[in-house]
Amino acid sequence: MLREAGNDRLIEEAELRRSLGEADLPILLMAQVQMTGDEALLDEYAPAIARLLHQGTPLPSSMVAHLHDLLAGILLKPQPLPGGVSPTLMQKMMSTCVGQNVPPEYVPMMMQDLGFDEPPQLSWRAIGARMPDFRVLVIGAGAAGLCAAIQLKRSGLHFDVVEKNSDVGGTWFENRYPGAGVDAPNHLYSYSFEPGHSWTRFFVKQQELQAYFRDCVRRHALDDRIHFNTETTSVIYNAPERKWKVRTHGPDGNREWIVDAVISAVGQLNRPAIPAIEGIDSFSGPAFHTARWPGDLDISGKRVALIGTGASGMQVGPTIAPDVERLMIFQRSPNWIRTRPRYHETVPVGKKWALEHIPFYRAWYRFQLFWSNSDALHAALQKDAAWREPQRSISRLNEDLRRDWTTYFEEKAGQNPELLRKVLPDYPPFGKRPLLDNNWFEMLARDNVDLVTDPVAKVTPHAVQTRNGSDYPADVIVFATGFQASRMLFPMEVRGSSGRSLRELWGEDNPRAYLGVLVPDYPNFFILYGPNTNLGHGGSVIFHLEIQVRYVMNCLKLMAEGRFCSLECRQDVHDAYNEKVDAAHEGMVWTHAGVNNWYKNVAGRVTANSPWRIVDYWAMAREPNPKDFLLA
Ligand code: NAP
Repeated sequence: MLREAGNDRLIEEAELRRSLGEADLPILLMAQVQMTGDEALLDEYAPAIARLLHQGTPLPSSMVAHLHDLLAGILLKPQPLPGGVSPTLMQKMMSTCVGQNVPPEYVPMMMQDLGFDEPPQLSWRAIGARMPDFRVLVIGAGAAGLCAAIQLKRSGLHFDVVEKNSDVGGTWFENRYPGAGVDAPNHLYSYSFEPGHSWTRFFVKQQELQAYFRDCVRRHALDDRIHFNTETTSVIYNAPERKWKVRTHGPDGNREWIVDAVISAVGQLNRPAIPAIEGIDSFSGPAFHTARWPGDLDISGKRVALIGTGASGMQVGPTIAPDVERLMIFQRSPNWIRTRPRYHETVPVGKKWALEHIPFYRAWYRFQLFWSNSDALHAALQKDAAWREPQRSISRLNEDLRRDWTTYFEEKAGQNPELLRKVLPDYPPFGKRPLLDNNWFEMLARDNVDLVTDPVAKVTPHAVQTRNGSDYPADVIVFATGFQASRMLFPMEVRGSSGRSLRELWGEDNPRAYLGVLVPDYPNFFILYGPNTNLGHGGSVIFHLEIQVRYVMNCLKLMAEGRFCSLECRQDVHDAYNEKVDAAHEGMVWTHAGVNNWYKNVAGRVTANSPWRIVDYWAMAREPNPKDFLLA
């Protein structure tokens, strides 16, 4: 019998075997190999695992039984686990786990993310002791701000967090519309250093994610460091004193903070974008943005106009359709919609048990998710200049995606050619963020749902009117119209050494930063989820945020070790980096002429997304290069 972790319950062998039966075989194999170092087992199973992953050919039952026996043997007689795994074995295991060759460049990044390497925070422990008077202010207690706060606490530095909302979670606090949830799998969309949450679903809803962030605050005892209902209005650098003066407005009125460094963690998707539609203020009923959903609104029996069909619209529409009298969906441009295994599923009991109790299982599951959800897709977003049909796709790989995704549309809407014509995009896959199908087509087939593609022209007191003059009487208007993403850090006033504001520097919508984090003239000012750090090809924003936080912590370490009190990015380094970013984007799908998306600014420059593979960004931001900075 095995004692269950965290309580005194004993697991019977039969129960253990039931759990193994629900677990993923490639992941079980990795756990077994890592627990035993048995490389021969890896060689023996690799071909069958590859067939399972690529052709869906089940593993022979004798192999399954053998693997289960080996695991039961180990798990029922708990013993000390072996130390680490060598980089060579790691690469071999990674490749076997996903059934394809994983290049060695991924080894150090994944060793770190999966916790097989020394955690970077160990090297930050001395920072606080070396800089006892140094103070940091973090703006925002969402996914980025909390990540920074946790590492700052571990470093021993003095810090505070100011948050404009009454709770943590950022976008996951604000977006409480019906159906709000993630579309990145949670066993990847979570901090590498806080993987222990027992997710109820593979893709959870808003409440559970916010509970996760609250739990992180509790586990890291951050409560007394976070100042809620406190909105930052200005962040001004005092060059002679080398201090930042930050003004906030909170429950006790205005407050001024004098600090040495500021970490902005306000996010890109924080300020709603409501289109300037004629007559919008004349509407007689509730009209609101998805991120401002009124908690007390009873939508049942109402006629609802839903304007916008991006990721938010995709979640709201199918969730409310069964309850409302009529749902009118105003689609300006269609989206690529695809399906994902397990999107709607809860995590089965046996799998949960495996995640929580089998050593290394959780880590290897995370790797498998990383691999299938991120850099593997990057190549399909690159333009091939010689491609013959650049309107509909940008390369052979991109065209292959179009074919696969079109098949899905045909399966779902092919019986209605008129509908298929309306919903099938004419631009290349990934031109806009592809959406996960939240029963969209089933919703469109309902009698009480209309898909309107005639453009919205104006709003009257009781209806939405389209350009051809049709009136759509409505009781409620929901704006699922996205965010002012390019207007980064708006509306804070941020002024650097020379007194110039970020708004003057960037204009309304053209932000740039070195690695998305540092801006020349703004010493000790660090931006998380800043310019060109959104992930448009896949992966997890939290994974990317951790890379940025590690970079910031390593900058602070550099300052502590060199006894510098100011670190500023050099202008030439910043400019050269941004030239590379822009050049890379010219070759990618988001600058495609036929696409509008929230990744670009009005002039067409991509300001939100990173053009890099995650592994490239990881390598660039791994260690700060002192030559990149003016240090004083
Ligand atoms: P979005 O992707 O920017 O979509 C905005 C929608 O509003 C688009 O369909 C846009 O049409 C439409 N629109 C804008 N102005 C309009 C107008 N005047 N008339 C008609 N339609 C108009 O915004 P979002 O759906 O809130 O998503 C933003 C981002 O938030 C996502 O890409 C994602 O990164 C994140 N998000 C994630 C999740 C998740 O994880 N599940 C959920 C929600 C949001 P066009 O396409 O023609 O511009």
